[in-house]
Amino acid sequence: MTITYRVGNGLYVNVTNRCTNSCDFCVRSVADGAYGELWLEKEPSKEEILDAVLQALSGNSYDEVVFCGYGEPTVRLDDVIFVAKGIKKDFPSQKIRINTNGQANLIHGKDVTPLLAGVIDCVSVSLNAPDPVEYQNICHSEFGEAAFWGLLDFASDAKKYVPSVILSVVRETIPDSDIEKCRSLADKYGVKLKVRDFIK
Ligand code: SF4
Repeated sequence: MTITYRVGNGLYVNVTNRCTNSCDFCVRSVADGAYGELWLEKEPSKEEILDAVLQALSGNSYDEVVFCGYGEPTVRLDDVIFVAKGIKKDFPSQKIRINTNGQANLIHGKDVTPLLAGVIDCVSVSLNAPDPVEYQNICHSEFGEAAFWGLLDFASDAKKYVPSVILSVVRETIPDSDIEKCRSLADKYGVKLKVRDFIK
């Protein structure tokens, strides 16, 4: 079972296979695993995750711990917060990021962004498209087109509690003209847009 893995100088944490999206470009469907076998036959407990992360951090220096994984980490948000608090207890200056589809408020049926305060340093929300129709065409959310507005509201709410909130698009999956529309949207919501490369 792969709970942690290194990408560059980040320690990535794999907490679940589950996701509310089924994106066309998802690494789960287009590859056997970009970083080894990440498919979890059984989800690790929050204690197992914390142990694995603390062990990986012991004697090593990482720029960031990143909750990312094969699936959507915020489906286990309470467990992610538990682990993040445990990391901050032993490594107070360790930066922690969540890479997310931004649907946490829809998943949990309430504004969960206050839970991020004081433990999460950065939230990177995958925007992927400039409007709800295109988003749903690409990402196939179980929340339908509401997922698009939900993720923007999540990013906006998260700004109150998290020092850095980013919207991201994958360069190879979106035309340049749509990237500019996404940039305008990010400006409107007061967050940065990151254009990232596809993970082959
Ligand atoms: S949101 Fe992420 S994990 Fe979920 S289907 Fe899309 S790319 Fe895969």
